[in-house]
Amino acid sequence: MASTLSDVDLLARLVAFPSVSERSTRDIADFVCDYMERPGVRIERFPSEDGERTNVLAMLGPEGASAGEGLILCGHLDVVPATEPQWSSDPFTLARRDGDLIARGACDMKGFNALAMNIAARLDPDSLTSPLAVLLTYDEEIGSLGAERFTKLWPKDRPLPRSALVGEPTSLRVVRMHKGHFKMRITIHGRSSHSGYPHLGRSAIEPAGAVIRALAGLREEMERERPEHCDFFPQTPFVTLNIGTINGGAAFNIIPDRCVMHLGLRPLPGMSAAAIADRVRERAIEAAGESECEVEFFNDNPAMLLAEDAPTHRTMCELAGQRESHAVNYASDGGHLSRMGLECVLFGPGSIEDAHKPNERLAEREFEAARPLLERIVGRYCLRANA
Ligand SMILES: [Zn+2]
Repeated sequence: MASTLSDVDLLARLVAFPSVSERSTRDIADFVCDYMERPGVRIERFPSEDGERTNVLAMLGPEGASAGEGLILCGHLDVVPATEPQWSSDPFTLARRDGDLIARGACDMKGFNALAMNIAARLDPDSLTSPLAVLLTYDEEIGSLGAERFTKLWPKDRPLPRSALVGEPTSLRVVRMHKGHFKMRITIHGRSSHSGYPHLGRSAIEPAGAVIRALAGLREEMERERPEHCDFFPQTPFVTLNIGTINGGAAFNIIPDRCVMHLGLRPLPGMSAAAIADRVRERAIEAAGESECEVEFFNDNPAMLLAEDAPTHRTMCELAGQRESHAVNYASDGGHLSRMGLECVLFGPGSIEDAHKPNERLAEREFEAARPLLERIVGRYCLRANA
């Protein structure tokens, strides 16, 4: 594509794709590839196993940065659903009201994506002394599935910039730490029968009650624990456990043969998710007693932790004019990217408090302020020797 749109116009184009997680990303991926395609820009796709969704990577500047020079700007293309009745305008049409840009994804995080794409689009690829990579992922909102897939498909010996900036809405603060998030499914099996003949069946729901009480006990126990790095999470300095859904039974006159619960847990950086899952498993099985209780652990989205004195953290803080360290309670693509050895920070316009809500907003002023900051960061990493 020869000409570029203004940042706001590009944002308007991006939010017009209702790229809710799990949906095919074909249309929005085609659009971003077309937009960034030009001589000197190398574009690759890293699709999901079924080919329906894809990560897009655009690389500019010299290849073969074996020492990890350069920078990755990472954003996710998917958004959470926008079915809340409180929307005062179409969630997939960008609205401007009272100094805010409003649409699903305006804040989390197509605003950042528009800035990253435009910064890349306006650079002369020949002027770069180190590579710039724009990585746009899928299905971040349901557990960073796209980022995980990218780390699996990326050849281990292929060079990639070591420093990564993940543009989650942090109100333009550099964040070097976040919790992880993993899921568990507990299935209690019983035997169904006519409720008039209960001796022929065994309820799966009654033992589920005991399992819930045991899990609430474990949650309280974990809330009293103070793992390493807990001081950075003053609101929740512990592992959180949420029983998010429970389903069981078919009718009021059938003894239920199955009850399924879904749990979400958020470990602190440095903790073993598998070890926490083992505690859950032990409690659940014990509480279920005679009933068969199946416990599955999946979608382990890792926590992110970058040392305070890591070069990437120091540089980003210096450029953002920040002295202190920040942590957030939500997970991001930075967990999987860190696991592949990258130094990741979160940094982006918008407040997380406005994300995942009806009338999701991004203050226009903050959107405008983000641009020169990001340009300065890109300049430091890609337009001369790495600091
Ligand atoms: Zn996000």
